[in-house]
Amino acid sequence: MGTEVENRAEVLIIGAGVIGASAAFALAKSGHDVLVVDRNSGVGDGSTGSSAGIIRVHASDMQSSALAADSLTAWNNWRDFLGADSAEALARFVRCGSLILDAGTGFVDRAAAAMRAAEVSFEEWSSGEVEENFPYFDLHRFGPPGPIDDDEFWSEPTEFLRGALYTPQSGYVGDPTLAAVNLMQAARREGARLRPSTTVARIDVEGARAVGATLADGSRLRAEAVLLAAGPHSDSLASAIGATADFRVRTRRIREELVHVPAPAGLDLALQGVHLVDGDLNINFRPESGNAFLGGSNGDLAEEQTVIEDPDEFNPMVTPGGWERATLRLARRIPTLGIPRARTGVVGLYDAAEDWLPIYDRTCFDGLFVAMATSGTQFKTAPIVGELLRHVIETELDGRDHTAEPFLAPTSGRAYSTAQFSRLRDPRQGQSRG
Ligand SMILES: Cc1cc2nc3c(=O)[nH]c(=O)nc-3n(C[C@H](O)[C@H](O)[C@H](O)COP(=O)(O)OP(=O)(O)OC[C@H]3O[C@@H](n4cnc5c(N)ncnc54)[C@H](O)[C@@H]3O)c2cc1C
Repeated sequence: MGTEVENRAEVLIIGAGVIGASAAFALAKSGHDVLVVDRNSGVGDGSTGSSAGIIRVHASDMQSSALAADSLTAWNNWRDFLGADSAEALARFVRCGSLILDAGTGFVDRAAAAMRAAEVSFEEWSSGEVEENFPYFDLHRFGPPGPIDDDEFWSEPTEFLRGALYTPQSGYVGDPTLAAVNLMQAARREGARLRPSTTVARIDVEGARAVGATLADGSRLRAEAVLLAAGPHSDSLASAIGATADFRVRTRRIREELVHVPAPAGLDLALQGVHLVDGDLNINFRPESGNAFLGGSNGDLAEEQTVIEDPDEFNPMVTPGGWERATLRLARRIPTLGIPRARTGVVGLYDAAEDWLPIYDRTCFDGLFVAMATSGTQFKTAPIVGELLRHVIETELDGRDHTAEPFLAPTSGRAYSTAQFSRLRDPRQGQSRG
């Protein structure tokens, strides 16, 4: 293949995270000539690599819940979904269920309404039922979540939580990077090309149209369409050419710590574990291999968020403050928890919209598309989001408005309105991350 051909593609995807890889798979399957570039030497080493990999079906709105449920079908049938043969090592979905404690904030009611509207099944449990199923949780009301150095944090609670929602179908993928690698491998089977260790310096436009990208080494790639899926780096690449000028939704990059804590003696999380969503203490934990918990903040509280300006400049270590806050809060819910001296965990960055919904849309430049602001929530939906992005790109390249035509999910045939993910939406009220 000559350089001329190598440097051209119908669709250039910037970023080989779980979203870029999934879009590459869907587009290549649909017959497009796709080239994916990533500045890293491997696939899925950005936000995707630090993801907790939780696949939960509850959400603040109907479409987010439905997208997760439709994606769950793919996670449950991963080999078939990818068209992989039996020899390929694949990421594994582990079903453990999600328990969403009712913190009295209204979130549980919104999540229940969203799941009902999306026809996603769930159970409503009294606190007695929670206790029966998970006797190791102390179901006192400790919240609203406060700083751990406040005396209030240690006061003895007298009230109890009202109950919880339980979704037995939820779970997690323990190796999110492998899931992205699997998607990229599937895309390559369909003819997509991957160029690792290739950094985009600038998206190129001519007039009102995107025409490709200039790389850090000065060479140029040419394409009819460019999909920017560079995670926390998307905003600076898009802003540099004025492509975010008409966005109505603000985005920012948030640093997130996940801590790794062993289960107390006598508790076997492979049998008794659950993904705990605890709005009362603002924490979120799932079982992790090695009989441990992995988790951290729910992300919703502004005073507990660390906003990062430069995505290449952030502390990659679990901090003493973050460690203590997450582990001590979990220890309130599980009084038998022991807290190790050594701090272990994972630290990552995600780009988030102010309303916690992603932006999957075209931009003011013809041919330039974005999959950004995945808001700490889009690992789980990635299998279907790839198809949704295909819908956005194909419809627009055909001269039609993607928000005016429903996107039909391949796993269920369910119709979605992509207007929810538009850059031009009014920020949606009442959304939560967790
Ligand atoms: C700590 C943490 C926990 C999370 N937990 C969950 C969870 O439990 N469940 C869930 O559903 N979601 C979760 N998420 C969110 C989820 O991981 C992200 O929404 C998802 O991984 C985003 O994927 P992406 O492909 O958009 O971005 P990324 O994975 O960041 O991929 C972007 C890629 O672009 C590349 N890139 C950047 N700049 C350039 C450039 N100039 N040139 C070429 N390539 C470039 C990067 O190298 C990277 O590989 C979590 C995120 C974090 C950080």
